[in-house]
Amino acid sequence: MEIQNNVSLKGKTTMRIGGNAAYYAELNTKDDVDEAVAFAKEKNIPLVVLGGGSNTIFADGTIHALVVRITASAVTKTNNTVVVEAAKNLPMLINDLAKEGLDLTPLTGILGTVGGAAYGNAGQGPKGIWIDEFIISVEVFAEGKWQTMTKDDCDYRYRESWFKDNPHLNPIIWSVTLRLPEKSPEEIAEEIQRILQKRLDTQPHIKTAGSCFKAVGGTPAWKLIDEAGLRQTSSGGVHISEKHANFLINDGQATFDDAAKIVHIIKERIPEGLEVEMRFIKEDGSLEF
Ligand SMILES: Cc1cc2nc3c(=O)[nH]c(=O)nc-3n(C[C@H](O)[C@H](O)[C@H](O)COP(=O)(O)OP(=O)(O)OC[C@H]3O[C@@H](n4cnc5c(N)ncnc54)[C@H](O)[C@@H]3O)c2cc1C
Repeated sequence: MEIQNNVSLKGKTTMRIGGNAAYYAELNTKDDVDEAVAFAKEKNIPLVVLGGGSNTIFADGTIHALVVRITASAVTKTNNTVVVEAAKNLPMLINDLAKEGLDLTPLTGILGTVGGAAYGNAGQGPKGIWIDEFIISVEVFAEGKWQTMTKDDCDYRYRESWFKDNPHLNPIIWSVTLRLPEKSPEEIAEEIQRILQKRLDTQPHIKTAGSCFKAVGGTPAWKLIDEAGLRQTSSGGVHISEKHANFLINDGQATFDDAAKIVHIIKERIPEGLEVEMRFIKEDGSLEF
């Protein structure tokens, strides 16, 4: 495993915001994970795991941490059970499985990796289907050891998990075992097209990190933001999408502070019912919100 210095993170996030990682490594084996953890411990710096960067932005300066990205993405299939390594791109997995007659369509249109999805229980809205519906177990390095956690151990809730609850244990998800419903490939392909079209009609998909907030009351986040008259809000190079009031868009030159300022404005005007979902990673490797 090679540890690089001063690696730009901007292009590694879909919103294209971020400075440089003081240390950066790509992890292709479990030994690489062990080595990375030991390196961060020795240097006494945080270890930040990055997946596809589709829900994350970094501060604009130097991130004083070891930022790691898993690159292992093998998929092993036995009947309708698949073991997927963390770096597998989720949209690609959905398409690959469709050809085999395995149905993961409820997650269509969600960007990023399988590791990122299993970390944050990615999926539909509060009453919809999330990835935990399909999860049997997760292989993870946490609390200084390798372990296989059952779905129950992962304590999944709407956009929440044991992994998110325990950042101090530095969980690194290596692979996920899924069990999937079977359907005809044609039927699945049609459903994928239907969902993608709906997303294209209702959501932006460039230079954004997806939903910025999650709703914790009954009202969807976009509706609360809209009702508060904040749809036109902008700050520097970031504005709230015209198409979807819960998506922040980078106009091209956006900074971390521009995006954070919009979150502060929304939080001030809507003190209840919203929690920040996007990962705003500060220079010291901790979360802004
Ligand atoms: C256009 C668009 C639409 C979206 N629609 C949805 C949606 O409908 N539903 C939804 O849930 N999300 C949605 N998102 C948000 C995003 O796609 C998901 O949150 C996705 O699961 C993030 O995966 P990632 O690999 O990009 O994670 P990243 O953004 O890279 O990381 C997110 C978090 O996961 C952690 N993480 C990532 N990989 C690992 C790992 N291997 N081990 C431990 N921790 C890890 C990171 O440390 C970070 O805290 C959307 C985003 C965009 C841009």
